[in-house]
Amino acid sequence: MKTKCLIIGSGPAGYTAAIYASRANLEPVLIEGYQPGGQLTTTGEVENFPGYPQGVDGNMLMDDLRKQALRFGTNIQNGQVTKVDFSKRPFTLTTDTATYEADTVIISTGATARYLGLDDEQKYMGMGVSACAVCDGFFYRDKIVAVVGGGDSACEEATYLSGICKKVYLIVRKDYLRASKVMQRRVLDNTKITVLFNSNVIGLFGDPVLEGAHIIEYAGTEREQKYDIPINGLFLAIGHDPNSKPFSEYVATDPQGFIIANGQSQATSVPGVFAAGDVCDPTYQQAVVAAASGCKAALDAERFYIENQA
Ligand code: NDP
Repeated sequence: MKTKCLIIGSGPAGYTAAIYASRANLEPVLIEGYQPGGQLTTTGEVENFPGYPQGVDGNMLMDDLRKQALRFGTNIQNGQVTKVDFSKRPFTLTTDTATYEADTVIISTGATARYLGLDDEQKYMGMGVSACAVCDGFFYRDKIVAVVGGGDSACEEATYLSGICKKVYLIVRKDYLRASKVMQRRVLDNTKITVLFNSNVIGLFGDPVLEGAHIIEYAGTEREQKYDIPINGLFLAIGHDPNSKPFSEYVATDPQGFIIANGQSQATSVPGVFAAGDVCDPTYQQAVVAAASGCKAALDAERFYIENQA
């Protein structure tokens, strides 16, 4: 299939790029991947997307963005981009089911949840370990769970789980929470949440399902101590890694793998290839910022297409 503009990813960045590219007559094709709607579909209420004074369900927000992209004629395809050739234009991109040729490309593949890297995580995957409270919290009704992390995601997940579970531990490796003040307050004022500061999970136990975690507190100091907590579920909320792998042979990335967008525009190191959203945002990682960068990427792609037509 040949297109003037291929958009990869279906989060706020991808759909917003699609809305703008469609309205600019670029007749975009959007590949929505295996998780249509992206990370917001695993969130509950989104309270800080402008225009929704009462908040909005993450799935509903993404569904509305999808419908808006379709309304202007975006061609939405399913698949996972596994291989690209950005060495010449038109660019070639291969998914598990099709091959595309594109005059311009917008990469908006987002980011994926990080795990601690413990062997035990794999052992209990699907039987106690999760990176999505909204997806899996239901299975831990009236049970004891722990959330790892000290950012907004961790506080949001702990607060959400406190409405379902008997008790929630929040395991924070530093002596403070990195989350915004309002999220911190919700956690610290919640009697069902116990925050374990200066603590890390070093192992898990239980047979065959998770029964507890080995904790180390004040590791490497005189105050170091190890103890166990009884938990039925462990939720990881320790950040995300950018989904830039299929493209990193061609486009420049920073040491963490975030695609580098040049200056004021969303241009990557490859002329005609643009990036938007969390895949190129190590700093803000907000839905509204992703949407804005999707808009910029589409405007950049339109300009590039017009200036480089044969
Ligand atoms: P963050 O990067 O903000 O926080 C990650 C947390 O995990 C930090 O507390 C970090 O600790 C901790 N951490 C990282 N690696 C490990 C590890 N190996 N072991 C233990 N702890 C670890 O990620 P978030 O996903 O929370 O947020 C990403 C962005 O999304 C932020 O900009 C955030 O504001 C935003 N966001 C906004 C929401 C909202 O406004 N409703 C909801 C969710 C996210 P340390 O502090 O020590 O580095």
